[in-house]
Amino acid sequence: MKVRKIFLTAIIPLLSACTLLSGETVSEAAAVPAPSLEQIAPDVWVHKSYANIASYGLVLSQGLVIKTKEGIVLVDTAWTNDDTEELLNLVDQKLGTDPDMAIVTHAHQDKMGGVPALNKHGIGGRAHPLTNQDAPARSLSPTTYSILEHQDKENLMGWTENGIDHDGPITVYYPGPGHTHDNIVVYHAPTKVLFVGCLIRPGNSNSLGNTEDADLSQWAQSVHNVATTFPEAEIIVPSHASAGERALLDHTITLVEAANAQ
Ligand SMILES: [Zn+2]
Repeated sequence: MKVRKIFLTAIIPLLSACTLLSGETVSEAAAVPAPSLEQIAPDVWVHKSYANIASYGLVLSQGLVIKTKEGIVLVDTAWTNDDTEELLNLVDQKLGTDPDMAIVTHAHQDKMGGVPALNKHGIGGRAHPLTNQDAPARSLSPTTYSILEHQDKENLMGWTENGIDHDGPITVYYPGPGHTHDNIVVYHAPTKVLFVGCLIRPGNSNSLGNTEDADLSQWAQSVHNVATTFPEAEIIVPSHASAGERALLDHTITLVEAANAQ
């Protein structure tokens, strides 16, 4: 793994990060690895970036790059603007072009800290209206567009063939409050990859991470909603750990129920 020469370039405050208490913290004040891409399915890559978070150490955050017939979709930015620029370079090296569209999955820095880089590249960012509403107060830039304005599910990246509109292969879904009140998930039906962001905890975590903006009363129901909306999803990709199976959904429900029982 490529490691930067400059250590501790940024200690990011805890406030706007969906961080974690176990499993993902590598070490205090560690070198920050450069962003990277890892292919997990045909036409689907996980992007990884890192930040040193006060009290937590080095924290991984992940998103997706998905290639469709209609173009390339980026799901979540890297932690920072600079890292998002590097991520866009990686996408260009791999696929020969910038993403055509970006979706960010809630208003925390690890998910949308690089929105200004998207704007600079002319990549139309999309987010839930609540995300764009919350962003300025968290020192984050809202995306250009809002999605899911009047519905909880929307298909993106469809195409027109012989005058017939086809549903797109990418589904964006708002399951209700959980890690934050605006958290959304993104499903790629052709590969059965479901990106669940910070709504779903790493399989080796025994905590809910940063619950400052969480809704513990509705989180478990929201995860149930994801499970029933995407019964065919097989590869579950959370923000802060490697992809796993559907058992990750149940694991988060167990953690939420345990927190509520305390
Ligand atoms: Zn978060």
